[in-house]
Amino acid sequence: MKGQFPIGKLENIKTPFYYYDLDLLRATLDTIHQEAGRHDNFCVHYAIKANANPKILRVIRQAGLGADCVSGGEIEASLKAGFPASKIVFAGVGKSDWEIELGLDNNIFCFNVESIPELEVINELAGKKDKVARVALRLNPNVGAHTHANITTGMAENKFGIAMTDMMTVIVRAKELRNVRIVGLHFHIGSQILDMGDFQALCNRVNELQMELERHRIVLEHINVGGGLGIDYQHPNRVSVPDFKAYFDTYARQLKIRSGQTVHFELGRAVVAQCGSLITRTLYIKEGAVKKFAIVDAGFTDLIRPALYQAYHKIENLTSDEPLDTYDVVGPICESTDVFAKQIDLNRTKRGDLLAIRSAGAYGEIMASGYNCRPLPIGYTSDDLI
Ligand SMILES: *Cc1c(COP(=O)(O)O)cnc(C)c1O
Repeated sequence: MKGQFPIGKLENIKTPFYYYDLDLLRATLDTIHQEAGRHDNFCVHYAIKANANPKILRVIRQAGLGADCVSGGEIEASLKAGFPASKIVFAGVGKSDWEIELGLDNNIFCFNVESIPELEVINELAGKKDKVARVALRLNPNVGAHTHANITTGMAENKFGIAMTDMMTVIVRAKELRNVRIVGLHFHIGSQILDMGDFQALCNRVNELQMELERHRIVLEHINVGGGLGIDYQHPNRVSVPDFKAYFDTYARQLKIRSGQTVHFELGRAVVAQCGSLITRTLYIKEGAVKKFAIVDAGFTDLIRPALYQAYHKIENLTSDEPLDTYDVVGPICESTDVFAKQIDLNRTKRGDLLAIRSAGAYGEIMASGYNCRPLPIGYTSDDLI
């Protein structure tokens, strides 16, 4: 064992692969249960897009979370994993007809609607099935999040959601439609957010919008504040479970909830990121003109976050205790962006050493591609290796 890794078992598996520590996932889910459970009107959904590995979904479903889907495929994956349709929400700016029909056929909890044309299409498709679709309006709260520009979603310039100023127009339009019923408001301001002030800003915005609704004598069943809670990529060992207490308490304190209203959350990264690592084998150590490269057998096809958003992932050598040396850790793919980390310290590394690229449980395996005709990585759990 080095840290939480059963090295002996990992050494016999063909690399690269994902390794998920289910004890940590369960501990994370316990904390969510405990901290959200202090507030009896809080309902937590898991954002399937962060990781849809069936073994991970099963553990999350067993913990009682609902599902947040952004495609028909995710609705199918969550139903297959046993999430009840009554706990499935469905968001996305571009829902295809078959995806809407899938949601209608399964009587999902709610469609998070992002435009008037979409509302009209849901109304029409629900009408053909003689159903009334439950919808929440996804509003763009124009709240900035202190995170990477590519993963903010709640600014006026982003493609997501309906402008706040159109809220009443859309509600009035929806009242004319017989096969949709507005049951909530939905928001999602971005991802990897660690500053509780950003969530507080969202709460303030929701409070203003609820006042406006109240002036029209409208009280909706629920408020869905989306996800976005970040994790500590620098210290996966020390801070392995995110601060769910601060997160839920912020909403409990700041959000002015009407009586009978429920508050829904859609957490992805915060649930699964820390339990997963990408395990890769060192192929070669190349002494370049100005630096040393550790060339590994994983590439951005297996974990694209560093190439896509210059994301930092901590890397550990699982099979060396030698003194530290400095490396660029790079993959085999024919692209200059195929770099996991530059100028990082690792225990001195040689051909054959196993490296763990940490905090890779979210937006890792699920974003893998077959570029360069590379096989998709397999995900193993700690339960598989007992
Ligand atoms: C991506 C997404 C989430 C989850 O975001 P995290 O940052 O992983 O918590 C939640 N809701 C919607 C609508 C999303 O698109």
